[in-house]
Amino acid sequence: MLDSNIQYLKGVGPSRALKLQKLDIYTIGDLLNYFPVKYEDRRRVKKINEISEPGKYLLKVKIVEKPKHTKLKKKMTMIKAICKDDTGFIALTFFNNDFLLDKLIPGEWFYVFGNVKIAFGKFETANPEIERADKDWKAGRILPVYGLTYGLTNNEITKLVKTALETYYDRIQNILPEEIIREHGLTSRREAIRNLHFPSDSRKYSLAKKTMAFEKLLIMQLGLFNIKNNFSNEISHIKIKKRDLAERLLTSLPYKLTSAQLRVIEEIKEDLKGNKIMNRLVQGDVGSGKTVVAVYAMLAAVSSGYQASMMAPTEILALQHYETVKECLNLAGIDIKAEVLTGSTKAKEKEEILTKLKAGEIDIIVGTHALIEEKVEFKNIGLVVTDEQHRFGVRQRARLSNKGKAPHIMVMTATPIPRTLALMIYGDLDISLIDEMPPGRQRVITYVITEKEKIKAYDFIKEHLNKGRQAYIIAPLVEESENLDLNSAVEIYKELKSSYFSGYKLGLLHGKMTNIEKEEVINKFYEGKISLLISTTVVEVGVNVPNAAVMMILNAERFGLAQLHQLRGRVGRGSHQSYCILVNESKSKKSRDRMNILKRTNNGFIIAEEDLKIRGPGDFFGVRQHGLSKFEIQNIVNNVETLHQVQLISKKIMTENPGLTGPDYCNLKGEIMNLFKDETIIFN
Ligand code: ADP
Ligand code: MG
Repeated sequence: MLDSNIQYLKGVGPSRALKLQKLDIYTIGDLLNYFPVKYEDRRRVKKINEISEPGKYLLKVKIVEKPKHTKLKKKMTMIKAICKDDTGFIALTFFNNDFLLDKLIPGEWFYVFGNVKIAFGKFETANPEIERADKDWKAGRILPVYGLTYGLTNNEITKLVKTALETYYDRIQNILPEEIIREHGLTSRREAIRNLHFPSDSRKYSLAKKTMAFEKLLIMQLGLFNIKNNFSNEISHIKIKKRDLAERLLTSLPYKLTSAQLRVIEEIKEDLKGNKIMNRLVQGDVGSGKTVVAVYAMLAAVSSGYQASMMAPTEILALQHYETVKECLNLAGIDIKAEVLTGSTKAKEKEEILTKLKAGEIDIIVGTHALIEEKVEFKNIGLVVTDEQHRFGVRQRARLSNKGKAPHIMVMTATPIPRTLALMIYGDLDISLIDEMPPGRQRVITYVITEKEKIKAYDFIKEHLNKGRQAYIIAPLVEESENLDLNSAVEIYKELKSSYFSGYKLGLLHGKMTNIEKEEVINKFYEGKISLLISTTVVEVGVNVPNAAVMMILNAERFGLAQLHQLRGRVGRGSHQSYCILVNESKSKKSRDRMNILKRTNNGFIIAEEDLKIRGPGDFFGVRQHGLSKFEIQNIVNNVETLHQVQLISKKIMTENPGLTGPDYCNLKGEIMNLFKDETIIFN
């Protein structure tokens, strides 16, 4: 069977099985679903004079003369063979491959597959694959290229997949109902899987890709719709009708809410007093003012006699939210009990908080995932707010909400999802949008520069530091890495501290530091004891220092647009004109285009739509974990059109056959239950 251990496959022994496990391949089915990351098209032999730019090519060439054999230093040897086809010449070089010397016989023809470089009009390739042209070789086919792990070659994986396909082909069953396959001109699952590994032509490949995308998306969409159906049919025992404390907050705020905030508050009010459990996502760009909306909702719950909780993805953010809550209570002169619980709350204190929560002596609790630990019990939790910031999965949230009688749920996110995708990613939730910024917000000016202009940017930062402002420099890595040529926070910190910024107050922040260390650095930055913070993306979520006016991001090309937008949101929070400097260290046009989008607009939704156009929808699926890995989706979801079709079908199925009954839907139902196994999926 397909769920048999991979060891049962011919060619897999215990040691290979261990290596496959590193790739998350445990069963034969896993292997069949381990699709190539890309392909090498070896269908067509290129003529040398057809090559106009460097790249991987398949050539058929004749050895012109006896190859040259040279000894280089340190036991290195090199063979250089000049070859030709009927259009031009190319030099092949091989290092430490002496055994080839006898095989490269002048006058004989070879297939050569390798990276061709062009230097001063001459073609050359180093260490290409090479095989005599009279052999039936890999030429003439499209070859899969798999993600590899140490000790497993592409050839080995290819062979194993081939064996698995030959042995188990007939056992691969359709997940999509026949009817859907027929109606949408898709193909069978086995055919799709075969063509994703070994595409015979581009039409079959596209069809295979579309079929798998259809399948994955349908599983996900139906699952989400089912959750939503279940939730919205769930009668709420928690009626939040009184709101006096919440209203008191509104009248004591030093600013007027935007009309978007007011509209969302109305939507929440309606939900909370109704008969159904609220399941609402509040989406709003960085700085749009989601927190005060959340505090409003929590105070409404407390006014009606319930407890409320707010969960944040990081400790920093949890502490910040706690401060905001306390500030709101102060402003409005509200005398209720609020507490904060995080991973570093001391055991004794934690014990006390837990006891009080259970006894109902705490009204509002703010915290990190420490809040979803089994031990936390509430007396009467009425509302659970999650500041998702794309870190929490649905599952964790489901766990927290299951404490006590199903409470109302509100999720906040600053990740703008294009409208076309929202239903797929947040299909289980009602969506509210805060699509307006508080008045008077300044626009952060964004520059895109190349690596060469970095020094100028450092000078620019210095100018601002001298004026009393603070700044961030973001690097993609924590520490120097051997195989990636990227900036690391630790190195940059060391370098800048001893050179350009010696004499300035520098700080270093990254994810490998302990919570206490991190907190210390952030506090110093808050207090102005650090003026230039070198950091990884850990500052992405929530750090709020109004005096910070410059954000410089190294290797900006490595980040998603949404992430860059988030990082940029760390500046422009005070009254000083702020700047974002993106250092684009890639030379590609695509990368330049992406950076320029950020230069043009500060609107997160526009940025997301553009990212969707450039990079496809795959990227957005990582935003929320539904069990489908980002990688899996990225490989498969190629167009928004398929997404639309799937959404229409899902809606139709949910009205016509919500229980997914009948043999044709059996496999589909199983897959949905499996994907959402930790959540409330009920088909009846
Ligand atoms: P986010 O949506 O990113 O979580 P916050 O809730 O942290 O944004 O709000 C950002 C800042 O804007 C806070 O300092 C908050 O006090 C302030 N703010 C929120 N709403 C308004 C408003 N209507 N007018 C002026 N300032 C506001
Ligand atoms: Mg926030």
